[in-house]
Amino acid sequence: MYGEFKNESIIDFKREENRRKMEEALKRVKTELGGEYPNIIGGKRGEVRNPIESINPSHKGEVVGIVENSSIKDAERALEVAEETFRKWRYTRAEDRAEYLFKMADIMRRRRFELDAWLVYEVGKSWLEADGDIAEAIDFLEYYGREVIRYGEGGYVTPVAGEKPEMWYIPLGVGVSIPPWNFPMSILTGMTAAAFGAGNTVILKPSSDSPVTGAKFMEVVEEAGVPDGVVNFLPGKGSKIGDVLVTSPKTRFITFTGSKAVGLRIVELASKLSKGQKWIKRVIAEMGGKDTTIVDSETDLDSAVNGVIASAYGYQGQKCSACSRVIALGDIYDEFVDKLVQKAKEIKQGPPEDPEHYMGAVINERAYRSIFEYIEIGKREGKLVLGGEPAEGDGYYIKPTIIIDLDPKARIAQEEIFGPVLAVVPAKNFDDALTIANCTDYGLTGSVYTRNREKIDRAKREFHIGNLYINRKCTGALVGAHPFGGFNLSGTDTKTGSRDYLLFFLQAKAISEKI
Ligand code: NAP
Repeated sequence: MYGEFKNESIIDFKREENRRKMEEALKRVKTELGGEYPNIIGGKRGEVRNPIESINPSHKGEVVGIVENSSIKDAERALEVAEETFRKWRYTRAEDRAEYLFKMADIMRRRRFELDAWLVYEVGKSWLEADGDIAEAIDFLEYYGREVIRYGEGGYVTPVAGEKPEMWYIPLGVGVSIPPWNFPMSILTGMTAAAFGAGNTVILKPSSDSPVTGAKFMEVVEEAGVPDGVVNFLPGKGSKIGDVLVTSPKTRFITFTGSKAVGLRIVELASKLSKGQKWIKRVIAEMGGKDTTIVDSETDLDSAVNGVIASAYGYQGQKCSACSRVIALGDIYDEFVDKLVQKAKEIKQGPPEDPEHYMGAVINERAYRSIFEYIEIGKREGKLVLGGEPAEGDGYYIKPTIIIDLDPKARIAQEEIFGPVLAVVPAKNFDDALTIANCTDYGLTGSVYTRNREKIDRAKREFHIGNLYINRKCTGALVGAHPFGGFNLSGTDTKTGSRDYLLFFLQAKAISEKI
């Protein structure tokens, strides 16, 4: 039996016992690095013939695992199997489907330290960031499991004389899950579990930067006994198999989280009817952000500095919700910048296997180069007051960077950088701050630090973003408490971790029987 939903607690690594368990897990997983992971279609494992190597970003020479770069043929076979499996899976009882999700949550709890360790190696997360990712994956399973049952009970209809009206929520069909690497377990788990929990079948194409985490998810799916063909694991380059998956007439919906460029391409391709296609494809596209913190003059500056540091540099700024732009009011601007720079200097950086390190490396060489290009642009647009150079280590390490005195329209104040680079923009007053805050194409998260009640109320009304936080950091959304999704070019605002989310994977059928 399941009780009321509660968020999973984060492991307290200050406790000796937990520290030891994590060290043991890191040691054990290290001996397993370099393993091969084929695709799994209809429960059948393929072979690794065309390898993609997943590299540890903190130690460039270390191969975390090797997955198959699946072919277009593999994608077509996965679509066929998913279509075939849907014919039966769609009629399974909601309670039975939910049970698989609850079982998976239990398995992840049991394997918690080991899964944390895989994330440390594969995507360079610190212990705490890795554990937050796994905890969120468990939350999604627990939350959506309960939602599967709730939607299984049908929708609200009003009585009518002489008839028995009902509304059923039924699944859509074959879905394609395309997650990013930055929350390699939680986002992947949430989008995939919601889809198949709702009675659909899924093709899961993990990010090529975190495919081993995807393979670990599949181990959990298999151990929970989810029938073959319900989730089909298809590692491979998005540029190679993405279009086939998106444009196939068999595909009913696509759940994507990633960059704006890829998301918009998927939206465009999915809107065109393919030969034999009988439906309008649904697309969930959750994309990037230029997330902003407003620091008002009527606030506790130390608390604002702490919030900005945590949301700008946690996981090296590689969160869609990361604060990458601060707007500080003129009268506290200099003091705020001084305190911010001081605090950022204290950040400890290095390989994330060592829990003393708050910041590690960025995900890959492409990101490393692109972030440095932005730093060069930023140096021309504003004043570099911290960082702007590589940090020591045999991975993609970039020092925490702060660029101040920027014009609101400066490129580094407008574009998503996705790294440890913070743009600071001065504002004349609170009105000005709100105008600047709303002047990008994005609208994902943001935060306002002020003690003034009127300003808080104005921010609630006028700051146009999907996730607004007052007097706290703009990262760390909790499933259930902070439904997550952005406005404008940040995405379709499907609000993961909310009661609305499952609806995107269902369609409603109204039935009325004369009595
Ligand atoms: P990405 O490059 O867009 O990749 C995301 C996924 O799309 C990967 O699985 C990728 O596969 C796949 N892909 C690439 N090209 C494709 C194509 N032509 N067709 C279909 N799929 C394709 O993004 P990312 O670098 O992984 O993630 C970072 C971005 O995600 C940032 O912009 C961040 O803000 C955003 N994000 C948003 C949210 C949110 O909730 N709004 C949450 C997390 C991250 P390959 O790896 O094989 O290329």
